[in-house]
Amino acid sequence: MSDTAKTSIAIVGGGPGGYAAAFLAADLGISVTLIDPEANPGGVCLYRGCIPSKALLHVAKLVEESKQAKDWGIEFGSPKVDLTRLRSWKDGVVKKLTGGLGQLSKQRHVRYVQGRAAFENSTTLRVTKSDGTEEVLSFDRIILATGSRPSIVPTLKIDSPRMIDSTGALNLEDIPGSLLVVGGGYIGLELGSVYAALGTRVTVVEMLSGLLPGADRDLVVPLHKRLEKMLAAILLNTTVASVADVGNGIRAAFDGPNVKEREQVFDRVLVSVGRRPNSEIPGLEHTQVQLGARGFIQVNKQLQTDDPSIYAIGDVVGEPMLAHKASHEGRVAVEAIAGHKVAFEPNAIPAVVFTDPEVAWCGLTETQAEKENREISVAKFPWGASGRAITLDRPDGLTKLIIDPQTERVLGMGIVGAGAGELIAEGVLAIEMAALASDVAMSIHPHPTLSETVMESAEVFFGTSTHVYRPKRP
Ligand code: FAD
Ligand code: NAD
Repeated sequence: MSDTAKTSIAIVGGGPGGYAAAFLAADLGISVTLIDPEANPGGVCLYRGCIPSKALLHVAKLVEESKQAKDWGIEFGSPKVDLTRLRSWKDGVVKKLTGGLGQLSKQRHVRYVQGRAAFENSTTLRVTKSDGTEEVLSFDRIILATGSRPSIVPTLKIDSPRMIDSTGALNLEDIPGSLLVVGGGYIGLELGSVYAALGTRVTVVEMLSGLLPGADRDLVVPLHKRLEKMLAAILLNTTVASVADVGNGIRAAFDGPNVKEREQVFDRVLVSVGRRPNSEIPGLEHTQVQLGARGFIQVNKQLQTDDPSIYAIGDVVGEPMLAHKASHEGRVAVEAIAGHKVAFEPNAIPAVVFTDPEVAWCGLTETQAEKENREISVAKFPWGASGRAITLDRPDGLTKLIIDPQTERVLGMGIVGAGAGELIAEGVLAIEMAALASDVAMSIHPHPTLSETVMESAEVFFGTSTHVYRPKRP
């Protein structure tokens, strides 16, 4: 026997896409049911993504700073890591935030169903609840927010507890003596940095010619330099041809033009080569939903799929696979369902890699402009000229603006440096508000802060930056 229920909007997946959508629907007075296997909303981001990784990166930064403090006349000695306490602190952060979301769901009268959903048809779901019972849920509209999971490389698919993905790495079972990270992208560099700070010898293998392929090269240089000191090795243009569990470790065979040591043994191997969409939702074949490139669910600008009653948002609909993009799409989808005139067409989605230094960008990148043959002006402010960066002993940064030389509109911003992730929001606002370089230059920024580097990069565009001397052309 199954229970039956009815809701205006059903939402499958309780990640930052799904719960943001559910909360807005409730705020607009629409009856909403949110379905997810966990006890509380949160999804990948809160349970095994953004939040636990950032908690650990905070600790990693502290460890690295405590080493640097020697240069400032303060010595702390080597850190002693109590792994059990570190793990329980990280788990506590996750519990606090997901519990808070559970609370917010109740306050808003969002009906939360713990379970997994499958389609019966375009207006009916069958939910297998965590307590083993079933519910048939009929709805007017549905939003799919089922997220993504790690991609798998067939040659690295062996059955060994030493092979881990991001979830395994975040579980923090031990501090391995050595760790091979396959993939020099967001996850590899963030989690590789965490383990390196805890004392692991970390080797990163990246198949392309540089780390973080999505970012402009000048932003990656300061990060690469610092990582070279922190990590055991960074092997570019390299892939892992095979892995084998040899009892006391994983033997990895490398392939690439610069490989010196063909085989090495590691205590653990973290595979972080990208993520793929969870679009194989059971029963989806009973609807008109179509999948596009790489298995992403195909949607229009209102996030509506090819089936008029079905919307989809977040990682399952495409890149960039970021939490804030998922949440924004969730809100747009709900507004579209509510009949508001909306579209998902941002000019700037910020990307932040929470390494040390952080790398952040939004809007048009230099690389993209080159590819599109677009004429741009680039104004760069080096952090060596920032008073605040010097007080922090972190001159290894750069703030740059990508500007339309004709209209002088700000089209993009890129930052590398400590705290770049907090600074990039100013770029998003400038781009979305169609700010001119002069608007940014003429807005008074507080002193001494790193935010002044944004104002001064706009001044650089006019050749009048206070702290950057440019000799006049004869
Ligand atoms: P998800 O958060 O993936 O949630 C989907 C939910 O749907 C899951 O709970 C899943 O169990 C559930 N689900 C799937 N199928 C069903 C079904 N049939 N029935 C019911 N429920 C179902 N992004 C950032 O912006 N900043 C970061 O710092 C950041 N750090 C990250 C660190 C790591 C290690 C990882 C792995 C990812 C990180 N991300 C980060 C990416 C971010 O986690 C995702 O972009 C975001 O979680 C996507 O949100 P979503 O709502 O689309 O789906
Ligand atoms: P990624 O796409 O960021 O990086 C994967 C890297 O692996 C790339 O550099 C790619 O060239 C490389 N690669 C692919 N196949 C390889 C192979 N066989 N051998 C060696 N290198 C290989 O993917 P990710 O690090 O797994 O992260 C997945 C996604 O999760 C990110 O793209 C991002 O959307 C999201 N994420 C975001 C954050 C954040 O916002 N700070 C943090 C973590 C994850």
